Amino acid sequence: MSDKAGKSVSGDTIEKHLAVTLDINRFRDYCPNGLQVEGRVEVAHVVTGVTASLALLEAAVAVNADLVLVHHGYFWRGEDPRVIGTRQRRLKLLLENEINLFAYHLPLDAHPELGNNAGLARRLGFRADGRFGDQDLGWLGYSSATTAGQLADQVGHALGRTPMLVGERDQPVGRVAWCSGAAQNSLDAAIAAGATVYLSGEISEQTVHLARESGVAYLACGHHATERFGVQAVGEHLAQSFGIKHTFIDIDNPV
Ligand SMILES: [Zn+2]
Repeated sequence: MSDKAGKSVSGDTIEKHLAVTLDINRFRDYCPNGLQVEGRVEVAHVVTGVTASLALLEAAVAVNADLVLVHHGYFWRGEDPRVIGTRQRRLKLLLENEINLFAYHLPLDAHPELGNNAGLARRLGFRADGRFGDQDLGWLGYSSATTAGQLADQVGHALGRTPMLVGERDQPVGRVAWCSGAAQNSLDAAIAAGATVYLSGEISEQTVHLARESGVAYLACGHHATERFGVQAVGEHLAQSFGIKHTFIDIDNPV
């Protein structure tokens, strides 16, 4: 939340600014990054949230938002493109209220300061010193925790949610790799990069076996819980840059 309220800026200016800041053209992504649904021209109040769910949009309408900025927007590759059901209700609410929807997916995971993985590292006190995996989305570094159990406790405290630990609590922590969200398929790449502990949002059945058989401790910390940092950092960045109001709205999600 920023108190520098009162000013406004065009949505177009915000889009151009974030395209450069988040370097959106560098990524091969599964959805459009930037403006997804056009609303009113002038923006005085930005609401950020993890996912453009109906609950988030209703909360944004209630606080008179001009722009909603999320990590998980719409129009994902392979989706049914028809405007029916859930999609119709979400789009109708946005269009009726002339609210702009902006979404930033991979650029917001990857950004060195404003991104989800950068925020996760700051929150957990990790010292980052490298990247790994597809499009360099994964991060590498070190933690102050000496055992996997200690690290799991730190994560639970920092994110307000107890992570699922696959491995032994007394397993030593060496090289730490992390990637927010549904990055369970990057475990292979993390192991190849020398990780002894891997943190991500989600975990799958087969990931458990891979973790056990490789001896790498896996901490599933929550998809939503690990992806709340990027949008908040971008919202604060916009508030600082343009003097507009920013409100982060957390619609809880147990996954
Ligand atoms: Zn995600």
